[in-house]
Amino acid sequence: MKLLFEKSVQGRKLGLLPVCDLPKVELDDCYVRNQAPRLPELSESDLSRHYSELERRTHGVNNGFYPLGSCTMKYNPAVNEQVARLAGFADIHPLQSADTVPGALEALRLAETMLAEVSGMDAVTLQPAAGAHGEFTGLLLIKKHHESRGDTGRNVILVPDSAHGTNPATAAMCGMRVAHIPSGADGCVDIGKLRAAVGADTAGIMLTNPNTLGIFEKDIAEILEIIHAAGALAYCDGANLNAIMGIARPGDMGFDCIHMNLHKTFSTPHGGGGPGVGAVACKAFLGEFLQDTRVKAFHGNFLVVIRALAYMLTLGADGLRAASETAVLNANYFKKLLAERYTVPHGENCLHEFVISMEKEAAQGVTALDIAKLLIDRGIHPPTIYFPLIVREALMVEPTETESRETLDEAARVFIEIYDAAMADPVLGKVAPQNAAIRRPDEVAAARSPVVRYTW
Ligand SMILES: *Cc1c(COP(=O)(O)O)cnc(C)c1O
Repeated sequence: MKLLFEKSVQGRKLGLLPVCDLPKVELDDCYVRNQAPRLPELSESDLSRHYSELERRTHGVNNGFYPLGSCTMKYNPAVNEQVARLAGFADIHPLQSADTVPGALEALRLAETMLAEVSGMDAVTLQPAAGAHGEFTGLLLIKKHHESRGDTGRNVILVPDSAHGTNPATAAMCGMRVAHIPSGADGCVDIGKLRAAVGADTAGIMLTNPNTLGIFEKDIAEILEIIHAAGALAYCDGANLNAIMGIARPGDMGFDCIHMNLHKTFSTPHGGGGPGVGAVACKAFLGEFLQDTRVKAFHGNFLVVIRALAYMLTLGADGLRAASETAVLNANYFKKLLAERYTVPHGENCLHEFVISMEKEAAQGVTALDIAKLLIDRGIHPPTIYFPLIVREALMVEPTETESRETLDEAARVFIEIYDAAMADPVLGKVAPQNAAIRRPDEVAAARSPVVRYTW
């Protein structure tokens, strides 16, 4: 598909705006361009078609099923969008004096209070723009806590081998060394290995609960006791709180700090890199460091917070709990349907998601990647693949609570159909997708040498 710049024809204009009749403002030379900006020139219909075509080629939650594990692609309610577009929220400026925006500030405070309540924490910052950004903020708080006590030898962060890749990356960004804790056969943290790893140099642990296999860490109380007894702190990766919100609270489990992805659990749109909010909540003793831990200008992605607040207010406490319960029910229902063909190694009692292993099938020529590519042709966004790393040939499936039983039944039928077809003829998986704009890109090159700038 051609870019707008390539479709541009010199002199072609929309031509609908009246000629500007405002007095000309003279700017100092240093503010004035010495050449006109290079902008594409198109007619309105060409422009409209361009964006409609882009939309048509994109799969979103509004197009169809999107069971992208760990990413929680749930439906984004339209009422959130309407609220975020209210002039009192959308047309204000962060440099306006506080007394002109009491409603916006009240909304922020309310969102903070609700997130503190959901997580079982005391203090909240809404600044971080993503989950990873929240992790970074949280680890800075933990670092400051140790430093404030003159406890300067703690430079190791424990991370289970099932963790999201952002966890070790964040620890490294904070100048910490990462020690991986292996999981046991049940997919949970191996307590013996944890005990052996904890020491005087441990700054903290980063733990996801439910973990990335979709399993609740049953020994969470004991794990956190071991960590605290060693003088370290416990960070909860709460990106996916949608399995437990309204039911169990990380603060009550003993975690000291947590981030919550409002762009996952709290239904604000995501994908394509944001904007998001990785709100950080912490216990009071860490809250004192929040004041001078600023990680983004002003209040972060304010309108994302407004959308999440609208979601929380719409659902209320009972509704949030019901959302979690339905997310867990949907995952278990879908898992049961898929289990007719697919193997779910750790899936006895999953929460909001589960992980399929295609290891056995890969030996016969059908990989997780093949299944993902075959799903694209059938209008289903593939699950997360090859993550978590502890499951071979992983397909990580998260249906979310906003899918109906009919959608799940139909999707399961497709999953099973393509499984049978690929097992009968593995070539099918190798040449799929047939009907997508982009079929089998070189993923390493796409990640390592992305072309993000158009060159003339
Ligand atoms: C998505 C996710 C993150 C990172 O969140 P971003 O907003 O993508 O930075 C961290 N941990 C887990 C478990 C996640 O699912």
